[in-house]
Amino acid sequence: MKTIRLKPGKERSLLRRHPWVFDGAVAKGSADPGETVRVDDAEGRFLAWGACSPASKIRVRAWSFEQAQRIDAAFFCERLRAAIALRERLAVASDGVRLVHAEADGLPGLVVDRYGDTLVAQFGAAGVERWKGVIADALLELTGLSRLYERSDTSSRQLEGLPEATGWLRGGGDTALVLQEHGCKLGLDVALGHKTGYYLDQRDNRGLCRELVQRYGLAEVLNCYSYTGGFTVAALAGGAQRVVSVDSSGPALQQAAANVALNGLDAARCEWLDADVNATLRRFVEQGRQFDAIVLDPPKLAPTAAHAERAARAYKDINRLGFKLLKPGGLLLTFSCSGGVGVELFHKIVASAGIDAGVDGVFLQRMGGAPDHPMTVQFPEGEYLKGLVVMRRPTA
Ligand code: SAH
Repeated sequence: MKTIRLKPGKERSLLRRHPWVFDGAVAKGSADPGETVRVDDAEGRFLAWGACSPASKIRVRAWSFEQAQRIDAAFFCERLRAAIALRERLAVASDGVRLVHAEADGLPGLVVDRYGDTLVAQFGAAGVERWKGVIADALLELTGLSRLYERSDTSSRQLEGLPEATGWLRGGGDTALVLQEHGCKLGLDVALGHKTGYYLDQRDNRGLCRELVQRYGLAEVLNCYSYTGGFTVAALAGGAQRVVSVDSSGPALQQAAANVALNGLDAARCEWLDADVNATLRRFVEQGRQFDAIVLDPPKLAPTAAHAERAARAYKDINRLGFKLLKPGGLLLTFSCSGGVGVELFHKIVASAGIDAGVDGVFLQRMGGAPDHPMTVQFPEGEYLKGLVVMRRPTA
């Protein structure tokens, strides 16, 4: 077993059970990609077992902080079993569930989503890449399923020096399937869709959207960054009279239209715009268009804190325009999935966008990611998705 020795003082994060060791913390030692190493402090005291990734700035991702732990097939089986058991108690309102959420489930770099009878996995780091076969077998055994598709095409693979890998790892067949969520059907393709095929993290916020549309009687809805129409279907199911969906991806909008049909919802109530959201919002402001509800769910604008300032301006821009398009009494459902923009900062950005738009806004509710994408006390980086429901106060 190879050992990696840290520089003096660099043991602190591992002692707090944060799983990452950066390259700058290493005094000496290396190993092959994904090889299990022992990490010691500068005095040679045991800190953790981890997977080495010589190409990555995150040089080691810790598997365990227990010296007696063996990192073997049984270890992975147990971690996977615990992750799946956690979801069983969450009462997820869908057959699309995130079974493994990487660091938060003690399996750094591994994401596994279940869509009905199909598993989809992303191996995003050298450690889980090395144990891929063991993990794949354990997943089938623990779930009783026979199909596992690999979507290891994340940008993190490049940072790890790993090539892209996609295709069936176990089993095979059609990659297009239908997911049930809050009673709605959603078609997706695990080979072609974003992430593992769908944005499962927004599940409960789509459910909330449906409920709000129904409760407030919101007739005209604008769904920005609609992707395959998850919020569009939710709004229509809640009784919206008209939903305008905007996305710059043609295939996503085609799938969205198919999803409306799949649920027997009225296609005549839908308007699809294959366009840039920012330009569309500006055009709508010029045209004086107004909506009862607006969803803003942009892609990740600030992957890390270093991008936060520029991203803050971009978030503020779209939110200011969103507020301007909101009818009095209307609701803005606005999100950020940027790890680099924290909850407090996002709240401030949305508040100042409301002030600039001259809108009297009331924060009704905070939103987050669905609980099958857990956050943990040791790993603050795991918090990424945040959202706010803001009402434009009705004019007196
Ligand atoms: N709300 C969706 C997920 C949105 S993902 C859901 O619940 O499933 C973000 C989407 O933004 C992607 O579909 C991407 O195609 C789209 N997108 C990215 N940049 C865009 C832009 N400038 N204008 C319009 N759409 C954009």
